[in-house]
Amino acid sequence: MIDHLLSVVAPHLCCGCGEIGTLLCDNCKYDIVNDVVKVCVQCGTPSGENNVCSSCETPYVRAWCVGERSGVLQRLIGDFKFQNMYAAHVPLVDLLDQVIDQLPKDTIIVPVPTVPSHVRERGYDHTLLLGKRLAKRRGVRMQHVISRTTVTKQRDASRSQRIAQAKVAFKVKTPIDEAAPYLLIDDVVTTGATIKYASLALREAGAKEVWVAVIARQPID
Ligand SMILES: [Zn+2]
Ligand SMILES: [Zn+2]
Repeated sequence: MIDHLLSVVAPHLCCGCGEIGTLLCDNCKYDIVNDVVKVCVQCGTPSGENNVCSSCETPYVRAWCVGERSGVLQRLIGDFKFQNMYAAHVPLVDLLDQVIDQLPKDTIIVPVPTVPSHVRERGYDHTLLLGKRLAKRRGVRMQHVISRTTVTKQRDASRSQRIAQAKVAFKVKTPIDEAAPYLLIDDVVTTGATIKYASLALREAGAKEVWVAVIARQPID
């Protein structure tokens, strides 16, 4: 809200080219979407149509990712997650919407639950915002069916700590519609442990098929 009021006084600038009046102009949006490459979201190796490779044996069978967390995409995500720029969820959902295939009408969108202290810091639940807007855009349901069993912050954790935390971090809190495909939404994939174990929780609770959509994956060093 504050962000909205400020934008009247200090208008948004495009994260890519600096154009006044928008957080991401159509040209910069086009450049990002045009650059989407097919890689396994779990391990980053080039893969086929569904962005999952056979050696990762992921509990989800399809994935979509806008791009690497670098350049314009990194700035936009940074503004959204760490600069309290609420309005950034709008272009981020535009990007997701452009890379995700057509969804069956019974698809259920599930945001990966955010750590409560991060929600308090930002003043909004960022994955919930993304999930809600995407569900509205696509005319499908969104359900907040997964909750966190731990409140540990991942930000400063090592790779092995993150994986160990994610293994026990999720539980499904409401009944699963066994006939519907579930589309899990997250912002950034780092180790891949969050989307893996959140998907696994859905599968173990009875979901027939789980898909994943993320905005960015951390580039491999
Ligand atoms: Zn631009
Ligand atoms: Zn893989």
